[in-house]
Amino acid sequence: MKKSSLGTYVSKRDFRKTPEPRGRPLGRSGKPIYVIQKHDASHLHYDFRLEVDGVLKSWSVPKGPSTDPRVRRLAVMTEDHPMAYASFEGDIPKGEYGGGSVIVWDRGTFRNETVKDGKPVEAKTAVARGHVVFRLDGEKLHGGYSLTRMNERNWLLVKRKDAGADARRNPESSQPESVLTGRTVEEVAAGR
Ligand code: MN
Repeated sequence: MKKSSLGTYVSKRDFRKTPEPRGRPLGRSGKPIYVIQKHDASHLHYDFRLEVDGVLKSWSVPKGPSTDPRVRRLAVMTEDHPMAYASFEGDIPKGEYGGGSVIVWDRGTFRNETVKDGKPVEAKTAVARGHVVFRLDGEKLHGGYSLTRMNERNWLLVKRKDAGADARRNPESSQPESVLTGRTVEEVAAGR
């Protein structure tokens, strides 16, 4: 049996207190998914997650992804999350790890397009090497992006130049609502 990479995720949480899913790695078929959760914790941020090898590889992006190829957004790598987390929306109790409200801000599928020396690189290998090139097909975001490690846990998330690029679009402000329920993170926090 494959060893789970979810040990850190599980150890940080008390599942008697948080409604977050405990989760296990899943075998999946079909296109891998991505999800972006807006998380109003001690600092508001967007959790960017890519399905790789049965878990959600995760980065915390303080400002969220940009649609402008000239803008580089800091993405801090965090612990792998279980696949079940992709549909989690709700309140993590105050005092618990990540306490605050979460909405599913965007979701869809992605295609890994990482190439090195003219050869395709598997997503898992690309993440381990610190450079992943991919194409999103989501509800808010579309087209190519790259994630590149600068040092330790700090990566940069950058939009690639293509039809999905738009320097004037700011989906974080123009489309703040959940793609699951239409709620804003403030409405979730208010218990609506
Ligand atoms: Mn978070």
